[in-house]
Amino acid sequence: MSGILVFVEHAAGEADRLSREALVLAGSLAAAAGAEVEAVLFGADAAGVGAGLGEQGVRTAHVVEDPRLGAYAPAAWAVAIVELIVARGPVAVIAGGSERGNEVLAHVAARTGRPMAANVVDVTVAATQGDPWHLTRQRWAGSLLEDAELRADVQLLTVAPHVITVDESGGAPGGAPAASVVRFEPSVDDRDLVGRVTGHEAPKGGAISLADAKVVVSGGRGVGSAEGFGILEELAGLLGGAVGGSRVVTSNGWRPHSDQVGQTGLRIAPDLYVACGISGAIQHIVGCKAAKRILAINTDPDSPIMGVADYAVIGDLHQIVPAISAEIRRRSAPD
Ligand code: FAD
Repeated sequence: MSGILVFVEHAAGEADRLSREALVLAGSLAAAAGAEVEAVLFGADAAGVGAGLGEQGVRTAHVVEDPRLGAYAPAAWAVAIVELIVARGPVAVIAGGSERGNEVLAHVAARTGRPMAANVVDVTVAATQGDPWHLTRQRWAGSLLEDAELRADVQLLTVAPHVITVDESGGAPGGAPAASVVRFEPSVDDRDLVGRVTGHEAPKGGAISLADAKVVVSGGRGVGSAEGFGILEELAGLLGGAVGGSRVVTSNGWRPHSDQVGQTGLRIAPDLYVACGISGAIQHIVGCKAAKRILAINTDPDSPIMGVADYAVIGDLHQIVPAISAEIRRRSAPD
């Protein structure tokens, strides 16, 4: 093959955003290396999603059909990818910068004794086969960029989240041929299945997920209490968005950890991020800096969040947030 193999995560019949970012990087590397892009997918809908990846430049989608591997099982999924490496001989395996992407590729690296680079933002493919690839990757939550060389026969990379732009229009005009779907049954041992997901808890009331929301209204210490989030919930509801928070609010138990934005929470890329009573520590900013626009609502005009905000309202969020909601309601009321 000498192609580039991408581990594609998917949900609800679509490739995940971070996997699509990995596919964009794979496409540019494949063009430079004169290679083709192939994908590997697990779980329900894998064949349908895989076929649709033709629009993202994928020629062949390897679909793992073993029912034992339908649910996430990092070591076992890695075994399948290692078998594909042996069978297909890719020059690189790339995954999105998700928890799963990093975990599965770390298992692949450990099993094969190859080096792996995480959080990659740029890659130069070696002109001569066998020479190292030069790459740039993020360190320290994105506050440092590091140049590195990766010397391996198969390069293992994950892509830093929300650094690579994805074409949301869905691909080339006129459509692209579907990827050919190849069913694949790896020889996984039951011992590889000791760590696996056995169930999911859906978000309450069909709420919009924080990871996918186009608008996120996020609160920090300035919100003051769990009850204080009522006005943020209201604004998020009016904007069709989701509520997030800083680590202070999850540490205080005002919100669940699943709502945390930042280095040790989610990294998101909404169209609008409304930061209410959040100071803008680097560990928080790394989670929201990919937003298209940031609106800060803060009593302190010198707080660090002002350095990254596109718009700011200086004042008490307990007055400003309800005033924004009231104005939205007024403007959307029938005449
Ligand atoms: P503060 O820094 O206390 O800021 C509160 C802000 O609210 C201030 O700017 C204040 O002016 C404003 N304010 C107060 N009252 C009002 C009001 N009535 N109206 C408007 N504004 C008001 N943090 C994260 O968020 N996410 C992470 O994933 C994360 N990971 C971390 C990982 C590590 C290893 C470490 C060391 C730290 C991490 N942190 C993380 C913590 C981070 O360093 C900050 O401590 C945290 O983000 C601060 O939260 P905050 O902005 O809510 O609180």
